[in-house]
Amino acid sequence: MAKSKELLANTASPPLGDMSAEEFRRFGHQIIDWIAEYFEHIEELPVLAQVEPGDLKAQLPSSPPEKGEPMEAILADIDRLIVPALTHWNHPSFFAYFATSTSAPGIFGELLSAAFDVKSMLWRTSPASTELEEVTLDWLRQMLDLDAGMHGFIYDTASVSSMHAIAAAREGVELRIREEGMSGRKDLPLLRVYASEQAHSSIEKGIITLGLGQRALCKIPTDKEFRMDAKALEEAIDQDKRAGFLPFCIVATVGTTSTSSIDPVPAIVEIGEKYAMWLHVDAAYAGPAAIVPEMRDVLKGCNRADSLVLNPHKWLFTPFDLSVLYCRHLDLLRRAFSLVPEYLRTPEQDQVRSGSDYGVQLGRRFRSLKLWMIIRYFGKEGLAERIREHCRLARLFASWVEASNDWELSAPVPFSLVCFRAISETPGESGEHRTQRLNEFNEAIMHAVNATGRAFLSHTKLNNEVVLRLSIGNIRTTETHVRAVWDLLNEEFRRLQVHSAK
Ligand code: PLP
Repeated sequence: MAKSKELLANTASPPLGDMSAEEFRRFGHQIIDWIAEYFEHIEELPVLAQVEPGDLKAQLPSSPPEKGEPMEAILADIDRLIVPALTHWNHPSFFAYFATSTSAPGIFGELLSAAFDVKSMLWRTSPASTELEEVTLDWLRQMLDLDAGMHGFIYDTASVSSMHAIAAAREGVELRIREEGMSGRKDLPLLRVYASEQAHSSIEKGIITLGLGQRALCKIPTDKEFRMDAKALEEAIDQDKRAGFLPFCIVATVGTTSTSSIDPVPAIVEIGEKYAMWLHVDAAYAGPAAIVPEMRDVLKGCNRADSLVLNPHKWLFTPFDLSVLYCRHLDLLRRAFSLVPEYLRTPEQDQVRSGSDYGVQLGRRFRSLKLWMIIRYFGKEGLAERIREHCRLARLFASWVEASNDWELSAPVPFSLVCFRAISETPGESGEHRTQRLNEFNEAIMHAVNATGRAFLSHTKLNNEVVLRLSIGNIRTTETHVRAVWDLLNEEFRRLQVHSAK
């Protein structure tokens, strides 16, 4: 917003109504210019916000303005106050958590969606949103090679998608939980959900939210590559049945959060079918990889699942938020959530889909617009090309780790996430001491790298060992950025090793 001073003064809000069309156009152009410049120069900014807790709050007035302020002043504060307090998720050297990024067509989709301000609750309040969502998600389904029985529905996040999937599974057990609830009922057995110990915490949160209680979750052990042990799953279900519990839902993960491991869905599907249980697949991060023809097999078995979640806001260049739930039994989802008071009744309600029938929310944002624009702009091939390149970069980084004596890989690299850690030997050290020392060493390297502002990495713990995670998912990340973070890691390794030897 550097040019804001050149603009006319007095652009404060008019006494009534919105900003004039002329001013909207002027500031709109300025904001688009600002965003273009932000992306052109984003690499000059520190990836991780270099602020302390409370820094931003201390600079903001504690009470709201009585009178409207000029847009120039508001925009100037974006530069002065907001940008320094941002961790830049769109920075190409953002490698933490699951790296993600927005894209230009996605931003345009968001902008238009804000202009339309649709509340997609009933078909008639939002024909465009309702029908574009159905068509766009069917395109995406075809791109993923999922079968036509999987119907897509957009929620905000995977946490919410999975919670709705578990609710639909529970509706399917015919225990009148919608009508009578669960509390105070002596006739209900303990309902059980099974997920691997590597499953995302959102599954447990969904279970808590649905009132099933944390004890409803049975965590299944994983093998040495962090994949659910299907045999242990079957044993746990058998044991629970003998104890009088009601196993009703299995959650498999394709692309776990810590290591991106892939649960053996084809074997798990067999178990789900044998015990007539709902199988939900959490492919929040890795699902989009199935768009790449040679990676299609990552969703092997998922065509027999009851539901599957994937997040275009993770690895499909879609601005946060947009999560897609594919579900084979929309009727159960609808039965779990549809409630139509008189003031929402419409003549066409039996012929159309109304968003509010499939979830907790009444109004929903027009999210499909941005995904539709992204798929049209990049095309299936363009999206596949970008995901393929991210996987290539991850394999390249992993090859440097493998070739080095100072680092080791901590897990296989099926997608674009590398789990690795620094190793250094001290003569005569015991196992536990070594683990503790290396944990501290790796944490120190990570914090040192992040403090430079030149890259941002996160960590996890595997078998008690602190492991660094390098996730590649940003549309602007190139080999140069990956090489630079490798050099930086090695620089910090040497600096901290010398430091600890003193
Ligand atoms: N599932 C998996 C495998 C994830 O990795 C994550 C987040 O990283 C989630 C679910 C939760 O995603 P969301 O933030 O969309 O709720």
